[in-house]
Amino acid sequence: MAYPDAVVQLIEAFRRFPGIGAVTAERLAFHVLRDPRARELARAIDRAVEEARRCRTCGNVSEADPCRVCSDERRDATVLAVVEEPRHVEALERAGVFRGRYHVLMGALNPADGTEAAHLSVRSLVKRVQAGGIQEVILATDPDAEGEATAQLVLEALASSGDGGPVVTRLARGLPAGGAIEYLHKGILEDALEGRREVRLRRS
Ligand SMILES: [Zn+2]
Repeated sequence: MAYPDAVVQLIEAFRRFPGIGAVTAERLAFHVLRDPRARELARAIDRAVEEARRCRTCGNVSEADPCRVCSDERRDATVLAVVEEPRHVEALERAGVFRGRYHVLMGALNPADGTEAAHLSVRSLVKRVQAGGIQEVILATDPDAEGEATAQLVLEALASSGDGGPVVTRLARGLPAGGAIEYLHKGILEDALEGRREVRLRRS
């Protein structure tokens, strides 16, 4: 590339974001150079990274650690809903259909955007379960291919972490295929939770 180093670095920084290809990265980089408001974006990113903490218990983004849900004694600490992203916690909280606690994986297995098992907070989930007190883990990942692969990964991790662990369930199949949890309204989320079924690892 004949661009100055700083521009090349900016393009490369954009390319590391999910779903951004070479052409889009280049277009965004030059948009930034043209638009003086881009500095606001840089400051906002800086501030968010600096100030948005993550709860060390559930992994959710939060102003406090532990977060509001993890520190709420009225929430059922024996049931964990495993979700992909903070926005899924938001969706379930907005719907008000779940009274347990969460574990946020911070992504889903996705070969296309390079998200692998190591990027997801599965190990901290296993540790949490091994610490005891959890009776049920609900796999509440999205009902799409990435969500299913992620649910399988979590199931395997929990199964290999020892016997006598919690019951593992999956949201009911009534969810629209390919749908995302955050777009589902309260009634559907409630049905999906109520109709959840136990899942077991099939050993060959
Ligand atoms: Zn938390």
